[in-house]
Amino acid sequence: MKKLVMIGNGMAGVRTIEEILKLSPEQFEITIFGQEPHPNYNRIKLSNILQGDTNFEDIIINTLDWYKENNIQLYTGETVTKIDIERKLVQSDQGREVQYDELIIATGSNSFILPIPGADKLGVTGFRDIKDCEMMIKSADQYKKAVVIGGGLLGLEAARGLLNLGMKVDVVHLMPSLMERQLDPIASSLLKAELESQGMKFLMEKETVEIIGDERVAGLRFNDGSFVQADLVVMAIGIKSNTSVAKNSGIYVNRGIVVNDFMETSAPNVYAVGECAEHREIVYGLVAPLYEQGKVLADRICGNETTTYEGSVTGTQLKVAGVDLFSAGEIFEDGTTKSIMVYNEYEGIYKRVLVRNNRIVGIVLYGDTKDSTRLFRLLSKKEDITGVSIFESQCSAEGGSSDIASMPNDELVCGCNGVTKGAIVEAIKTQGLTTLDQVSHCTNAGRSCGRCKPMVNDILAYTLGDQFDAAAAQKTSICGCTTISREELIAEIKEKGLTSVKEVMNVLEWNNEEGCTKCRPAINYYLGMIHMDEYKDDRDSRLVNEKMHANIQKDGTYSVVPRMYGGVTTAADLKKIAEVAEKYDVPLVKLTGGQRIGLFGVKKEDLPRMWEELDMPSGYAYGKTLRTVKTCVGAQFCRYGTQDSMALGIELEKKFERLDTPHKVKMGVSACPRNCSESGIKDIGFVGIDGGWEIYVAGNGGVDLRAGDLLATVKTEADVMEMTGAYLQYYRETANYLERTSKWVERVGLEHVKEILANEETRKALNERMDQTLKKYIEPWNEAIESEKIKDKYYAVHTVKAGE
Ligand SMILES: Cc1cc2nc3c(=O)[nH]c(=O)nc-3n(C[C@H](O)[C@H](O)[C@H](O)COP(=O)(O)OP(=O)(O)OC[C@H]3O[C@@H](n4cnc5c(N)ncnc54)[C@H](O)[C@@H]3O)c2cc1C
Ligand code: SF4
Repeated sequence: MKKLVMIGNGMAGVRTIEEILKLSPEQFEITIFGQEPHPNYNRIKLSNILQGDTNFEDIIINTLDWYKENNIQLYTGETVTKIDIERKLVQSDQGREVQYDELIIATGSNSFILPIPGADKLGVTGFRDIKDCEMMIKSADQYKKAVVIGGGLLGLEAARGLLNLGMKVDVVHLMPSLMERQLDPIASSLLKAELESQGMKFLMEKETVEIIGDERVAGLRFNDGSFVQADLVVMAIGIKSNTSVAKNSGIYVNRGIVVNDFMETSAPNVYAVGECAEHREIVYGLVAPLYEQGKVLADRICGNETTTYEGSVTGTQLKVAGVDLFSAGEIFEDGTTKSIMVYNEYEGIYKRVLVRNNRIVGIVLYGDTKDSTRLFRLLSKKEDITGVSIFESQCSAEGGSSDIASMPNDELVCGCNGVTKGAIVEAIKTQGLTTLDQVSHCTNAGRSCGRCKPMVNDILAYTLGDQFDAAAAQKTSICGCTTISREELIAEIKEKGLTSVKEVMNVLEWNNEEGCTKCRPAINYYLGMIHMDEYKDDRDSRLVNEKMHANIQKDGTYSVVPRMYGGVTTAADLKKIAEVAEKYDVPLVKLTGGQRIGLFGVKKEDLPRMWEELDMPSGYAYGKTLRTVKTCVGAQFCRYGTQDSMALGIELEKKFERLDTPHKVKMGVSACPRNCSESGIKDIGFVGIDGGWEIYVAGNGGVDLRAGDLLATVKTEADVMEMTGAYLQYYRETANYLERTSKWVERVGLEHVKEILANEETRKALNERMDQTLKKYIEPWNEAIESEKIKDKYYAVHTVKAGE
């Protein structure tokens, strides 16, 4: 098998790998290096995260399981520092060397940071990755005033996000009008007025010369001597291709890494794709052209006949609520162009098309962009517009179907992914699609910025005719293998008495008979939740860490984290852990955030023997289950403690360990309101008070930091156990698989949960189902120790028996 290595784990690169896998899944052994510590995510949606519309988990495009399933060796958090072109290998900052036959550089761009004094102060950031987003979100918690430098697309999206986060925002722009490269002065002034009405302030024609402050930013100084105060500065003035690794390795670089029409660089068998590549002197900064490049490159690398990449025409939209804007091509008239224009000042609608020699060469639409795809097609295909009605605002919300009928098949619907009406109609017809989700999954339409979704819905309605069910079309199916939603799946399992993952997929006519990493673990969970004690877990349908009962690490080794109930251990257990760590040469022994000891860097084949020698239960540090119950020392030793937090923590952990839940669950028990075990940011947190316990729910200490809400105040430990059992079971029964408690409570409403749990009979019934479920679990490490079959199948440990 040929070795394919890719540097960069971002949108353009991974899309190219997807294309390669579609063409020739067995041809390459693939290795990907990604500097960021994450799988590939939808960078476009960072603005939506900042604006509070979504969270990081929802913008992951390729999960870690996807890499595993496609046998891709992924090294996250690892930067390639050098390409040795002679020896055909890459070297990383962690000393790793990987040989390649073919190499793709897909290193994207970095934010351009103004080289001015003070640019390195705390509180100054670009807007490029999730780290920048998290920094801005955190700053908004502590500080009040943000300044965004740059009145372009990114700057305005960042500014809108910061307003949503409760900050006061000034946008500083060098030019007299906003988005001056995409909008003419009329559209620009309409945009400015709209954003001002949303609370944004603008400092136009200002050149920043210095960032002022001590360690942290305090303000900006401009070249006219004026000053503005700031606690946070976001620089959104452009991007700079990330070419350093190519340049250091002797590959020809101009503004980007220079490529030909096959995306080949100056070095043999080395290609570049995405924002790091410069093609015919252009570096593109939007995904649509980058995905086109990826298609050409995939064909080239797989050895297929391919058309060349000839460059792209791009269109721009702004993802800010209340602003409908589209722009493409030329903006300004010259002696050779004529304008066709509509300006409805009253309604704030402005449309202008620039025409040269009967062909559209530029489009600016503000306030109504329904004509954008049709006009963009005319522009990119350079069609003669004689006799064509220019502004017809097709595809209105109500009357979509008739407009769709008149739309030609080659009209582009999803600009980001290059999907035409014809491709969507064909997929709907040949693959029996009935929901938006499915169309997206099959064709990629709507998978990036999502603006085309209303039109995809109209095409669905038009193609399905009488069979179109508007409510069903919007429904979120479990995954692309089916049209069935979670609610329907649960109802079908109950009604038809389905008892295995295979049976579910078979009877409910999954369009992919093997299912995928999204649906199989979900079905397995729902079956276990419904059939309580009698369901036989389908281990092979679980996510990889659960299947292995150990977390896979970035270098392919595993971690071992034994259970320490309530974070309490003994000298004997500590000795055992130390001995095992020494014997198996464990490279890292570390205290975890959940008050346990983790052994990291363990070889797969050593797992069962280590578990056996530890003789401790699995801590389930890898599972969608109860992870840890963190406790403070409490009344047993602390002079402030009013309750026995350790005893309660241990009791909770012993009762609910191994329970399958939709997502991981963490608990914390503090014996007084000083809250040393951080009970306020746990899925369930308990705080001791005089005469009882407060129970907090839906807290989260991860990416989406969230303080827990008070669910109830109870008197005794028995009350705690009863309320917790009922709450957890209600979560198990009503949450979507992979929905954290924080998201679930936000979706169903805290008051609703309180109402349900206020009823004693309901609590009793929930606890009965919980107890019935808990009976079925067995200790998984022990199971592996005792079963040669499991050891052989999952851990490649083969014991030779007499006679073999
Ligand atoms: C906030 C925001 C909003 C956007 N909105 C839109 C939009 O609405 N529409 C649109 O079309 N586009 C939009 N974009 C642009 C779009 O996200 C990019 O065009 C696209 O992500 C580029 O893909 P890429 O693979 O070239 O680079 P990236 O997605 O940046 O991926 C490159 C990856 O390579 C990694 N890397 C770099 N050097 C190394 C190394 N030496 N070793 C290992 N890894 C390395 C980087 O860490 C990064 O993860 C937006 C971008 C941002 C930041
Ligand atoms: S939470 Fe209260 S009781 Fe527990 S350790 Fe802290 S101060 Fe002591």
